[in-house]
Amino acid sequence: MRSTLLSRRDLDFLLYEWLDVEGLTARKRFADHSRETFDGVLDLCEQVATKYFAPHNKLNDANEPTFDGDRVTIIPEVATALDAFAKADLLGMTFDNRFGGAQLPFTVGTACFAWFQAANVGTSGYPFLTLGNANLLVEHGSEELIDTYVRPMLDGRFFGTMCLSETQAGSSLADIVTRAEPRDDGTYRVFGNKMWISGGDHELTENIVHLVLAKIPGGPAGTKGISLFVVPRFLVNSDGSIGERNDVVLAGLNHKMGFRGTTNTVLNFGEGRYTPGGAAGAVGHLVGEPHRGLAYMFHMMNEARLGVGLCATSLGYTGYLKSLEYARSREQGRSPLSKDPSAAQVPIIGHADVKRMLLAQKSYVEGALALNLYCSRLVDLQHTAESDDERSGATALLDILTPVAKSWPSQWCLEANSLAIQVHGGYGYTREYDVEQHYRDNRLNPIHEGTHGIQGMDLLGRKAVQNGGASLLAFGGALSGTVAAATERGGELAELGVALQATSQRLLAVTAEMFAGGDIEAAMANSSIYLEAFGHVVVAWIWLEQLVAADGKTGDFYDGKRQAGRYFYRYELPKTAPQLDLLASLDRTTLDMNDAWF
Ligand SMILES: Cc1cc2nc3c(=O)[nH]c(=O)nc-3n(C[C@H](O)[C@H](O)[C@H](O)COP(=O)(O)OP(=O)(O)OC[C@H]3O[C@@H](n4cnc5c(N)ncnc54)[C@H](O)[C@@H]3O)c2cc1C
Repeated sequence: MRSTLLSRRDLDFLLYEWLDVEGLTARKRFADHSRETFDGVLDLCEQVATKYFAPHNKLNDANEPTFDGDRVTIIPEVATALDAFAKADLLGMTFDNRFGGAQLPFTVGTACFAWFQAANVGTSGYPFLTLGNANLLVEHGSEELIDTYVRPMLDGRFFGTMCLSETQAGSSLADIVTRAEPRDDGTYRVFGNKMWISGGDHELTENIVHLVLAKIPGGPAGTKGISLFVVPRFLVNSDGSIGERNDVVLAGLNHKMGFRGTTNTVLNFGEGRYTPGGAAGAVGHLVGEPHRGLAYMFHMMNEARLGVGLCATSLGYTGYLKSLEYARSREQGRSPLSKDPSAAQVPIIGHADVKRMLLAQKSYVEGALALNLYCSRLVDLQHTAESDDERSGATALLDILTPVAKSWPSQWCLEANSLAIQVHGGYGYTREYDVEQHYRDNRLNPIHEGTHGIQGMDLLGRKAVQNGGASLLAFGGALSGTVAAATERGGELAELGVALQATSQRLLAVTAEMFAGGDIEAAMANSSIYLEAFGHVVVAWIWLEQLVAADGKTGDFYDGKRQAGRYFYRYELPKTAPQLDLLASLDRTTLDMNDAWF
């Protein structure tokens, strides 16, 4: 039976027929791997996700974690699934051999993790956060921090969190007030409150490793004064055993619309409930240098942003497959050509409007998955670059694609979930079917890891203009390469190439026009619209890439790719024209709206 979580056929196409991940094994880092090891881990992930994660997805949603003022209770299936995940050595998939990892390409790791997010976002939230945390420490932490915290995280004994947000500082991290006071022994004591912390409290593991942004008194104002600390729930003794309880406590759980299986917490640091070493204050260990915390955290946030995009895609993908299955079995109505009321009803997939909704979903989720994997491959190229040029090229392109890879799936795979509900009709609106939960779960993705609006400002205000427009140029170059390949193939591919080239040239021209008059306020006012137009051009490009890879190949799978690509070019890409017109006009409707007029 075909999985309704993800399509392995699609993953194989993307990984092997398009992105040539086998080619990565020519690089030293991946030399021990082969198609067999990649297939083996993909099979394993599908099995573990199907057997341990998917079955309790609804249960997790209906029975969210509770807090009795002392302890958090989570349904036992979560621990069983996470235990299976850890025992299969999946936490270390992409980490270095020297940390006990399997050193798989990040691209393969991304494909693997998508199975878990599609099966159960709530439960997969814990390893998601832990991996981001461990990655950051490997990159910026001392050997001691790595030995003490990363190794137990990769063994599944500790889980990690990221503690950035505070009640008064969400999008604006410059305004955090949590402080870290230095002590003579080289440690710090952390005082303050953090809001929204996912995985912030539970008893799933022996310990929780919080990565906390805080300000050291006397440091520079704003983001330049932010430092990063490891604050464990329990202190760790020098022999690695669990020590005293640290002064970080759960103030309460947030009750969410979706994503209910992951605890979401308000944490108090240093309120004096515990007194490690005889004094109040949460013991923290500085990561790297003082005042560079936000830069380190951005390392994690960039990967987390790719992960959030992947999460949105995975939820969109499973919703699509479930609505496809439903549409094939639900009989309702007859063909508009049938005049006979006694004729049997047809499966709803026979209706053009239902096919429209399925094609829209297919074009969104397959386009988004391809974009996520493409970006992951750029991460691999960055890590294993054989020349400075290769590294800087991959970095420039990844920089500009990251806000899109986070936001586009969060917007359009959420729309896919909405269409999946629509395909189910009234049944889709009930909790008996899965799709309403996928929609609620997915609604988080445009909010966390930088809201949609923040991603728009990042794309237009930073990425599109940074280094003299180097990232924008890198994107233009990659896109032109694809158009050239499509032109060479001729026929329909060449026609799509012409449409893409025209739209992308307009996008580049509009970007320049927006800044030409020096009215930054007007240019930035519609940065979310810019993000959306830019995103559609990126995904049209990614679709053309896929169609070139599928060129000349026959069979239902490839015909389906071609039809979904066609759909995207005919129904979606043209949506950018009025958006680009609006952007070019530096429209001030939103800016000129007066607060009193609402
Ligand atoms: C379920 C969940 C899990 C989370 N997990 C974590 C976690 O593990 N760790 C963590 O640190 N945080 C976490 N967060 C916090 C999350 O990252 C923030 O909610 C997010 O950054 C937005 O901050 P805010 O909620 O304060 O909204 P605000 O920053 O108040 O934003 C409200 C609205 O105003 C807009 N806005 C804000 N500033 C500007 C501006 N300058 N220009 C234009 N528009 C603006 C935003 O785009 C948004 O639409 C989580 C949040 C949720 C809901």
